[in-house]
Amino acid sequence: MKPKKQKILIDIEKLNRLNAEGCPVCKRKFTLGETVVIACGPWQGAKYVHENEAVFDGKTSTYYVMEERRERSCTIKKNCVKK
Ligand SMILES: [Zn+2]
Repeated sequence: MKPKKQKILIDIEKLNRLNAEGCPVCKRKFTLGETVVIACGPWQGAKYVHENEAVFDGKTSTYYVMEERRERSCTIKKNCVKK
């Protein structure tokens, strides 16, 4: 089976919810209609980030934040609580 890449469009409900914090990677606010993915990064669990700031790892079927994956992949995988 091919790993499923789950992309999410920002709708008004997500916009309101996520923009309290904004994107944890680039610190910008999300805008309506943008594509986001749920990614693991230097945080607990998984968060919404812009699609172009994450890479999809087919082995684990998980998105990882790009910068972080190279140097800190072990830490991140440990942090990522996948259900
Ligand atoms: Zn971002």
